[in-house]
Parts: sequence; C-alpha cells; structure tokens
Amino acid sequence: MRRRTLSSILYLEKIRSAPDEVRKIYTALEERPLERTCIRRTQCCRFQLTGEIPYITRGEALLAATALRATGRKQLPVRSDHACPFLSDSTNSCLIYSDRPFACRTHYCDAAGGRRPRKEILDLIHRLEDLDASLNGRGPISLPTAMPEALSIVRSS
Ligand code: SF4
Repeated sequence: MRRRTLSSILYLEKIRSAPDEVRKIYTALEERPLERTCIRRTQCCRFQLTGEIPYITRGEALLAATALRATGRKQLPVRSDHACPFLSDSTNSCLIYSDRPFACRTHYCDAAGGRRPRKEILDLIHRLEDLDASLNGRGPISLPTAMPEALSIVRSS
C-alpha cells in the first residue's frame, strides 16, 4: 500500500482548496469600482485574431480544469483555428465563463473597457502569484500550455 507523507497530504489539500481561493480573488475583482462591461463578443478568445494569449497561474488553471470537468468534459477541446480551447464551437461562448481566468477579465478587449490599470489590481495579481507559489507553480504561463497539466492534477486529486 502506498503511504502519503504529511507534506503530500497538505499539498493535496492545497490543490483541492485552490479553486475556491481563486474564486475569492475573482469576486474581489468584480467588487472593484472599475468600469468594465464584457458582453461576450468572444473576440478576445480568438487568439489568431488578437495575437494575444491569456497567461494564467496554477490556481487559475486548476479552477478552469475543475469548471471544465463540471461540464462533463474530461479532455480539453481541440481547436484547429488556434482559438481558445474553452471557446465552444457549437455555442460560440466560453465553456467556463463564470470561472474564466483573471486575464480574460482584465485584459485584451477594448469593447469591454480595455486593460485595467495594473496598479489598480496589483494586490489581486500578488494573491494569485502567492497561491501559484504555494502550489509549486511556475508563475503565469500560457493558457494552452497550463491546461493539460492542470487537468491531470485535478483528475488525480
Ligand atoms: S477562457 Fe473563456 S473568456 Fe478566456 S479566452 Fe478562453 S474562451 Fe475566452
């Protein structure tokens, strides 16, 4: 029988609580009095058009993986057009919209209000980075790169 060490048990607990921690940070962002209106145009989800890809921390990736699994999917959808893998082909909407990454909420889209000034959200970025470090993350990495590992962690936790 395989035995778990105390440190591996604590790490597992961190993995399991990470999605809720990240949701708290997203909620804190939504409570900021910063003008922003996303009407789900999904233009920013088409990386081939914008030339920009969201970079996400490990906690965000774990939340996105958890949200994807909640839709009944076990694998990341494959897109041949280099759009975000979370952009549904059939509904043309984000599969994990309520749990979408921080960058999707703060960057990219001019129609939604443009980039949020970094100084106004720096404390929240630091919270995401601190959580990333506690989860042995490697700092923000591109969403398509981060997701396979996050799905594998969520599957085995
Ligand atoms: S996670 Fe959702 S909102 Fe963000 S780029 Fe992908 S499809 Fe768009």
